[in-house]
Amino acid sequence: MLTVTLVPILEDNYAYIIQSQDSIAIIDPGESKAIINALEKLNITPSFILNTHHHWDHVNGNKQIKEKYNVEIIGPESERKSIPELDTGLKNGDIFNFGDETVEVIETQGHTLGHICFYFKNSKILFSGDTLFSLGCGRLFEGTAEQSFNSFKKLKALPDDTKIYCGHEYTLENAEFCLSVDPDNQHLIKRIKEIENLRTNNKPTLPVTLEQEKKTNIFLKAKNAEEFKKFRELKDNF
Ligand code: ZN
Ligand code: FE
Repeated sequence: MLTVTLVPILEDNYAYIIQSQDSIAIIDPGESKAIINALEKLNITPSFILNTHHHWDHVNGNKQIKEKYNVEIIGPESERKSIPELDTGLKNGDIFNFGDETVEVIETQGHTLGHICFYFKNSKILFSGDTLFSLGCGRLFEGTAEQSFNSFKKLKALPDDTKIYCGHEYTLENAEFCLSVDPDNQHLIKRIKEIENLRTNNKPTLPVTLEQEKKTNIFLKAKNAEEFKKFRELKDNF
């Protein structure tokens, strides 16, 4: 079993503290202070950091957390040069154990060229970084729409009841865009009401199931790379 503690950091990022048996890891520590506070509150010591990609808001806590806890840092091998203190590099299809979980590495090019997602098979939990957001998709800073469409295809193949935890709380803004493209989608209209309620109470909109996203996220509904590209361009100018 995997226990997930969500830690809001920076402006709108989420880092996560995850635990399975004796294994404890931090996902995407974009800063160290809030995360160390959360660890101290839980009275636990991490052994690993998992990074999804090299952007500063996902890796800036690496160095200080490693200094304090001597963690092993795991992330995409192809982004080694730009990930501070990276120890173990991973590539698409790699599998490793974490507590009683089996973790599969899914490379999802698009937002960056080396971006990876971590899929915890036993608990059916996906950490999607800045690839797949609730109701959105990460900006294509390095990859093409075609690459990103193929990445989304890989994620779509996961079980419908997969729980998704992503790197930012962008859900409400994303919802407004999805609604502009897909105004008659009743699932979306219902989901927006839930999101508004959660955000009014300052609660996270995550996790969200893949099934829910398939019904509402316009980027998961795109039928081909051309359509995906069109939605991405519309979003860039929204
Ligand atoms: Zn990013
Ligand atoms: Fe980010």
